[in-house]
Amino acid sequence: MVYLDPEPVIKKLKEMNARRILLQLPDGLKPHVFSYFTKLSQNFSVIVSSSGFYGACDTGTRDEYVNVDAVVQMGHTEIPNVNYGIPVIFEEYIYPSAETFSGLNLTSLEEKGYRKIGVLYSIQYRESAFKFMEFLKDKGYEVRMGNNDGRLKYPGQVLGCNYSPIHDLDTWADCHIILSTGTFHSMGAQLSTEREVFVVEMSEPFTLHSMMEEADRRIRRRYANMAGIMDVDRFVVVVDTKVGQYRMKLAMKIKEEIESMGKTAVLAYANESNPVDFQNMMAQCIIFTGCPRVATDDFDRYPMPILTAQEFQMMFKKTGKGKYIFDEIVNVDRQ
Ligand code: SF4
Repeated sequence: MVYLDPEPVIKKLKEMNARRILLQLPDGLKPHVFSYFTKLSQNFSVIVSSSGFYGACDTGTRDEYVNVDAVVQMGHTEIPNVNYGIPVIFEEYIYPSAETFSGLNLTSLEEKGYRKIGVLYSIQYRESAFKFMEFLKDKGYEVRMGNNDGRLKYPGQVLGCNYSPIHDLDTWADCHIILSTGTFHSMGAQLSTEREVFVVEMSEPFTLHSMMEEADRRIRRRYANMAGIMDVDRFVVVVDTKVGQYRMKLAMKIKEEIESMGKTAVLAYANESNPVDFQNMMAQCIIFTGCPRVATDDFDRYPMPILTAQEFQMMFKKTGKGKYIFDEIVNVDRQ
């Protein structure tokens, strides 16, 4: 596979005079680790991170940085406004474009009279997204890709914590369509907007379906998780130490707000958030300022309510005027 050709990486590492390398591979690419490691090791001293990582927001811990000159992370795209503190080479993983979308059933767009479409993609499907725009244009739709903010590298791209291209087009578009697999990115997209979001599931035969009902169910479950928190007294406000999730200033502000209500708040660091740790602290509620998906997707793992920063503001500061606000990360603090 061309993608696993290490030569471009070797060239970049030589240019930066790096000698000691930390190599991060997502689980799907770990089977290639022996061949890749062997090739890099002919030129550099390489150590592989065997633990999982979450994306470009997570390039290893300070302990790991101490002994390396650079990180090579496979499969993700840099987050431009994160200061990584160490040189990081991101080897993007973009699939070749799909051949055609001609078999895709667009009835659900027709039925609702949607004509102006915002197109989004998770990074692997960037090439396909351009093909898809041509397909929609040929069918007579108006199509745009929204501009990204500083947390994304490309227009139309999304992360599970940032949907700025949606907001760029929200007043123009009738609906948004995201090219992705699974529901992680499409669920976040629908939670971030009141416009309808459709997902093109990128395994053939391609299908198009709305995320509206699933997102409504998720929001109802989020409100159920938050029921009763107005009476809670002991909060733990968590700062995730991952370089792309570190929002200390936000956490401190929330802690002050909790205290101003006469309640108790503890500020806590976490790298791998573990429900048992908070249980041992007798926490009654967690406000998690790192990845918002910990609260929105994994809350079932926690024996106490766990809220995003935006959910905290919705509940205690009455932001959102009754509408659910998805907690998007625009930028993080420098560590
Ligand atoms: S913060 Fe969460 S959603 Fe955002 S890039 Fe990291 S793991 Fe993905």
